[in-house]
Amino acid sequence: MSVQTTLDIQAIREQFPLLDQSINGHRLAYLDSTATAQKPLAVLEAMDRYYRTINANVHRGVYQISEAATEAYEGTRRTIGRFIGAKSTKEIIFTRNTTEAINLVAQSWGRANLQAGDRILLTVSEHHSNLVPWQLLAAQIGVELDFIELDAHGRLDLSKLDQLLTERTKLVAMTHMSNVLGTINPVERVIAAAKQVGALVVVDGAQSVPHIPVNVQELGCDFLAFSGHKMCGPTGIGVLWARRELLEAMPPFMGGGDMIKRVGLRESSWNDLPWKFEAGTPAIAEAIGLGAAIDFLNGLGMEAIHERERQLTHYAWDKLNGIDGLTIFGPPAAERGGLVSFTLAGVHAHDVAAILDTQGIAVRAGHHCTHPLHDILGVPATVRASFYLYTLEEEIDRLAEALVLARDTFQ
Ligand code: PLP
Repeated sequence: MSVQTTLDIQAIREQFPLLDQSINGHRLAYLDSTATAQKPLAVLEAMDRYYRTINANVHRGVYQISEAATEAYEGTRRTIGRFIGAKSTKEIIFTRNTTEAINLVAQSWGRANLQAGDRILLTVSEHHSNLVPWQLLAAQIGVELDFIELDAHGRLDLSKLDQLLTERTKLVAMTHMSNVLGTINPVERVIAAAKQVGALVVVDGAQSVPHIPVNVQELGCDFLAFSGHKMCGPTGIGVLWARRELLEAMPPFMGGGDMIKRVGLRESSWNDLPWKFEAGTPAIAEAIGLGAAIDFLNGLGMEAIHERERQLTHYAWDKLNGIDGLTIFGPPAAERGGLVSFTLAGVHAHDVAAILDTQGIAVRAGHHCTHPLHDILGVPATVRASFYLYTLEEEIDRLAEALVLARDTFQ
């Protein structure tokens, strides 16, 4: 059974050639978009066109194809700026991914602005990408880490927020949407509280920017990190957005070509924003591909995409909750984005995923880069099924049937 959506899902699926294949004699049901999303033709074609017609390094050439490459690369920056409501393209820094964007903040802003005894507030449900960079910084300069815990349903427990946020808290870094629990966190509330103590806020948007409308002015955050590959773009390209005055004051993260204005043997001066943070030849084709991905998402509308995922999540919630022995982690369907992580009694997560694969269903099994969260959940691993704009209800039906098969196989 399918539910009403304003999106034409069949037409959307035709844009994703990878989905049209069989695995183990079954039509591929790709339910791992939280790990990485599939790529529409528009993205593949934009990258192909770049390599076939204007492949040249950016910012340097005075010849035509280099200028065209620069224009296309910088055009994506404008597209991203509009997509997230940035005030200026100077605030959009290309990185490799969310991970690099967060490391940039930790090493550049963190080292320049924090000192021993300062505190950084995180949540216990962070992806390792928004945990380990702060641990490294803690080891380097002696900052201390505090954590917002979870309630029994996988929501952030904000009852102690006032105690956790003190005048020593200089930074809050938190995910907008959990990649395991699916919880859409009330970041606006935490940001408002952080402002009261003068702390800056980093939002890990790896799971929100691809799926829900995100506007940095409305959020009021100071930094936002996200990855192109999770939003129908290619791998190797991500984004750090930050308020311009912060970026202006921050030292470079990496040194090399393009990020400099003038280089001497012992000293150099830095390029203007945003290039100060983009050392070396960038991922040009990938940036262009990301621009095409955002145009594609905009063409469908982020509200419509979010609404569609809400429907799929409710659908999956109803289907999967009926399966004996299956435990879903995280809050009710109404409070989550398009994913469900679960265990199946008596069957290891990897065995579940292996059985699903025999049915052509691709899901993720493991800790999903959240060791501390899995320790709290009390399980070494979960199975995660995640949805995106091309997911069909029929694929969720197949998932439910295959889970019953997995359970019965191991009983
Ligand atoms: N943060 C969250 C919430 C994620 O889900 C992920 C990836 O799964 C990341 C950060 C890291 O993204 P990337 O590996 O693209 O840097």
